Amino acid sequence: MSGRHGTSSNYKSGCRCELCRAAAAKARQEWLIAKNGGKPFRVRPDKAMRHLAYLRSHGVSLKAISAASGISEVGLRHIPKTKSGFILASTENAILGVTISDDSYVPGWKVRRLISEMERCGVELPRLADAMMVTTSSIRLTLGQRKHKRRTLKRIETVYTYLAKQGSVPASVLEDIA
Ligand SMILES: [Zn+2]
Repeated sequence: MSGRHGTSSNYKSGCRCELCRAAAAKARQEWLIAKNGGKPFRVRPDKAMRHLAYLRSHGVSLKAISAASGISEVGLRHIPKTKSGFILASTENAILGVTISDDSYVPGWKVRRLISEMERCGVELPRLADAMMVTTSSIRLTLGQRKHKRRTLKRIETVYTYLAKQGSVPASVLEDIA
């Protein structure tokens, strides 16, 4: 690993730093293109489409996916109907690189489901508010919202998981909202 960083040869001798990984990925891409008679390497769109569906089902908007992947919204919409039935490998890579962020939205019922289950099991709102370090009125406000930031759901899930481990609430509800 004594070679220059940012080279695929350094990657081959074992370095996994950001620069060497990028260089190796680029070299591999070029090798695939060369192997393909100079044409950009293409792949079936299935994997990219599955990942898109996964992101969308977790509340990530097409706009957010476009911003994160650098592929236009039109381009993303076009993927299922590409004439050749193939997409560029680099397009697939860009899409697979998009992750669910805490800023994405989740439907309001998931939060309501957890809170109502806790209430049903005797966890009162003021106690939940204490655990989350927020006010009771802000939790009441939360209950009326159509959608929430993922990080809000995560915070409630953390409290819920803790209570479930104590046996105070049923753990199965976490699966219902997954
Ligand atoms: Zn390196």
